[in-house]
Parts: sequence; structure tokens; C-alpha cells
Amino acid sequence: MSLASELAVPPPSKIRLVGVSKKFTTKRGTVQALDDINLEIGDGEFVCFVGPSGCGKSTLLRIVAALERNFTGMAEVNGKMITEPGRDRTVMFQEHALFPWLDVLGNVLFGLKLKPDLSNNDRIEVARYYLKLVGLDGFEHANIHELSGGMKQRVALARALAPNPRVLLMDEPFASLDAMTREQLYGDLQKIHAARKKTILFVTHNVREAVCLGDRVLLFSPRPGRIRKEFKVELPRPREFNDVAMASRAAEITGELKTILAPGIGGSTSTIRPR
Ligand code: ADP
Repeated sequence: MSLASELAVPPPSKIRLVGVSKKFTTKRGTVQALDDINLEIGDGEFVCFVGPSGCGKSTLLRIVAALERNFTGMAEVNGKMITEPGRDRTVMFQEHALFPWLDVLGNVLFGLKLKPDLSNNDRIEVARYYLKLVGLDGFEHANIHELSGGMKQRVALARALAPNPRVLLMDEPFASLDAMTREQLYGDLQKIHAARKKTILFVTHNVREAVCLGDRVLLFSPRPGRIRKEFKVELPRPREFNDVAMASRAAEITGELKTILAPGIGGSTSTIRPR
């Protein structure tokens, strides 16, 4: 495989979930983490999952990543059943999970280990390309412990992007960062989404973050974990975190979220399709 084809933008992916349910049984009892999730996500769509803790957002992301395989229902990417993790779907977590014994370049190269067709020089080119894309040009040989939290998450993002996945799965990737750093990353992630055309699933607690980034925001409710409501966000991009129209869309979703948090109000299952 040539370097140019490796760096080309691959077609994004469609995701289809039909009747997905997941139960966890522990010593303390059984939790219905997800109940009858029906969802279609379009090519290149940026979809955010929001909702209180424990409503199954991460579990759903893990099912798409095939990190969680024991569930009922059907999960497909591009018409193909999801049965195992693949290079077409990479995951980025809240904790950066970088290897402290490797430098920045080494960490991104690690994400390219499973690309046997590339020469060592090509791997380095690919890793440098993604480090530049996330704004870390010139930091190739920095040690991980020398980096700020935001820079570590940028390395983690470069590592997730380097295998050139068609789907990027992000689980609260910015939750531990300060507000200023997060806002910079919102801008950068929107640029990367526009340039690399990935399908992105993004889990967050932060409604404003979801509205800033998503084409759609799916609001989850707990016990059992369900999609309570979907909100399309049709505001122009790039979106600024402090934009007034965005704040007002976020307030609308927060209003709905409060009805979930209020005791005694239940949710309903719905079938959600792409735009
Ligand atoms: P969220 O991401 O919305 O916070 P999760 O998907 O992490 O929610 O969890 C949904 C529910 O499933 C929670 O009640 C959680 O405690 C439970 N759960 C998640 N993973 C496990 C696990 N490995 N074992 C037992 N229960 C789990």
C-alpha cells in the first residue's frame, strides 16, 4: 500500500443498530444497561450521546467497538455484522492511556503496528501527518510526562486517527480538561471531521459540548438505558462554544434532560434514523 493511498480519506461508514439490549448481572443484581436500541447513523455523521451517568452511553459505544460482545439484537457497520474490533473503528477514551515509556511519535506509531503493508519510513510519515493535524508538529520526541493534559489528549487523538479508521468512537475524551483547552479542541475536532470525513460517535455529559460538535444529539435515559429523544443540530460550522444560537439549542436539550433527572418520569423507546 502506498503512502498516498494510506493517507487518502476513506469512505465513512454507516452504522445500524436493531433491538440492541444489554444486561449486566453482578453480585448486587441485574442492570438493564440498554433496552431495545434502534438507531441508524449515516456516512460521516457526527452523533453525540448525552444523558446522566449509568444510562448506557458507554456500553453502546463499546458494542460498536466490539469491546462488548455479549448483547442481544443486531449491530452492523456498512451492512456487516460487528463481531470483533477492527481497524475501521478506533476508540479514544477519557483517560489518554498513552505509553509513558514511548515518546509522542512512538505512541502514534503504536497505532500503526497493525499495518503490515507500510514500510517503517511510511509509518513515520503517517504518524507525523497526524501529529501535524492535531497541532503537535515539533513535539515528536517529547516525553509523555512533559505534556499538558490537552496535549496528551491530542496525542491520543492522533493515535486513534493514524490507522485511518472509518469510524471514530470517543468516550468523554475531553472530560478531564480545563474549559479553555476543551474549547480549542472543539474547534480542532470540527476541522478534523470536515477534513477526514469520519463517522463519529461521541459520548459526553456536557450538553453544550454535544451541541457544539454533533449533527445530532441523542438524549439517553437510565434504568433501563434507552434513547429518550433525538435533537438535530443544524447550526452552521465551525461552531463557537459561546455562540448564542448554540447556547439556546443546548438550553432546550438541558430542559429535556432535567425531566429525566426528575424522579418518577420515565422514557420511551424510539427508532432513530439519520438526517
Ligand atoms: P454511561 O456511559 O451512560 O454512564 P454505562 O454504559 O457505563 O453508562 O453503564 C450503564 C449501566 O451498566 C450502569 O448501571 C453501569 O453500572 C452498568 N455497567 C456498565 N458496565 C458494567 C460492567 N462491566 N459490569 C456491571 N455493570 C456494568
